[in-house]
Amino acid sequence: MTKSLEFVSLIVPPNPTKPSWWFAIQGDKVLIKRESVSTPIPLLDDFGELGLPISRKHYLGRLNGRDCFAVEVPEAASPQTEMRFEGLRQIYGLTNEMWFALAGRAVQIIDWDRTNQFCGRCGSKTRTHPIERAKECLQCGFLHFPRLAPAIIVLIEREGKVLLARGRRFERPIYSTLAGFVEPGETLEEAVAREVKEESGLTVKEVRYFGSQPWPFPHSLMIGFTANYASGELTPSNEEIIDARWFTVSNLPPIPDKPSIARRLIDSFVEKQTKTPKDNR
Ligand SMILES: [Zn+2]
Repeated sequence: MTKSLEFVSLIVPPNPTKPSWWFAIQGDKVLIKRESVSTPIPLLDDFGELGLPISRKHYLGRLNGRDCFAVEVPEAASPQTEMRFEGLRQIYGLTNEMWFALAGRAVQIIDWDRTNQFCGRCGSKTRTHPIERAKECLQCGFLHFPRLAPAIIVLIEREGKVLLARGRRFERPIYSTLAGFVEPGETLEEAVAREVKEESGLTVKEVRYFGSQPWPFPHSLMIGFTANYASGELTPSNEEIIDARWFTVSNLPPIPDKPSIARRLIDSFVEKQTKTPKDNR
């Protein structure tokens, strides 16, 4: 999917411009305009125009030449009637992928600032580093960077069929590709091999990078792969998987919505199958 908006991440505004985009965060929700799906974020000279108090503020960077700020609004404050605070899951799919990505970035930056007020090493007060995206301990100098949890997601193919599983933690009865967090000391390829083995009992070959997607629930980065079945019997892990099966393009179960990377992986499988019909079936 192409992004029509261009964002440049920056720590300090080079020369402030007006008006600016204001990503206002309350808890883990984002302030959006009720009526405007294409540009849901308020564009203002000053956030004070909305009459909402703020408890912290970070510069995010530039979107098509305009400054972007993340600000935290205290829990008790209510926005004007034409705006509302909305969860990222609701914003996801509602608007342009870039707005979702920026809203997710703003939520994570505010949460990182909120939860790193004190040093995790010595317990002293921290300050926001002037030129790095870091909270710096005033006592021991330790730097606390925003947390990011890499996770692999992999589409496994076998003779024109795709392996999809229904996870125990899925909110809806959908089937998706296998996924899991990368462990310390592991390469991405090793994480793919381990997760696939743990969740399905299978081994895979020809693991290839597909693409990635920031996934702010709460601070993941999904790294997508495709792979082919190598060996083993399908034995889904009882702890994580309710059901796992091989599906053909013509009998696909309910799958994740666009624009998730899981859906992009499945769509690319479908496209490949429909473009190159197998003559050995
Ligand atoms: Zn410290």
